[in-house]
Amino acid sequence: VKAERYMAGERSAGNRLFTALATSDQALLRPYLIVQTLKRGQVLVEAGDDVTKCYLPCKGTVASLVVALPNGTVAETASIGCEGAVGGIVSQGHKPAFARAVVIIEGPALCLDCERLEELKAQSASLRDMIARYTDCLLAQVLQSVACSALHSLEQRFCRWLLHFHDRAESDEVPLTQEMLAEMVGVQRTTLTAVAATLQARGMIKTLRGRIFVNDRDGLESTACCCHATVVAHFNRVLVGVYPAKVY
Ligand SMILES: [Zn+2]
Repeated sequence: VKAERYMAGERSAGNRLFTALATSDQALLRPYLIVQTLKRGQVLVEAGDDVTKCYLPCKGTVASLVVALPNGTVAETASIGCEGAVGGIVSQGHKPAFARAVVIIEGPALCLDCERLEELKAQSASLRDMIARYTDCLLAQVLQSVACSALHSLEQRFCRWLLHFHDRAESDEVPLTQEMLAEMVGVQRTTLTAVAATLQARGMIKTLRGRIFVNDRDGLESTACCCHATVVAHFNRVLVGVYPAKVY
């Protein structure tokens, strides 16, 4: 894993939660941050293992919290990009992880030891406050996903995920394969392909050799359920300016 010291002024690294911290809190963290390049499929922490590292994804990097069932099937519960952090955020210090954290879109992340983060949080009420606010937003995403899975159609949920990843993408290409999206939505690949075909026929997306491009963001927003907009609205109230929304 390529690692280098996080240099002052390296804003292009671009974790928006870090950038939103008070200047004094950024200065507290900066000496302990390492830039790592996370690879697709890399497991940041396995369920049941002690959480020892905290990762702040940068730019287009995204990690997911995945629950694996005893029969080997997996379901995604939340995904975290440049608006947040993975590891040691909800619990404090070395606690066992409930979910597996895995990288789904590769790229850079800032990384620090959870132990160090706990020491710094003990020194700064404003740092504790920002992390508590982010935890609240992450919980909102999980709670809304529970409601969404129970109440909304496959097409609505698919559009919701496309909006979620379009927000975090560097362009109009959603950098996920249809297989990955099928896993997130919780359906077979063939089922997802059929839904994607209807959205493509309506001009909202374009699929090309397994890649997905967003053509009509407004159309996706009106076809998706309210869940994406609800989570983003909460995020924007609790952590102003941190969510990487394309339009809102
Ligand atoms: Zn929904």
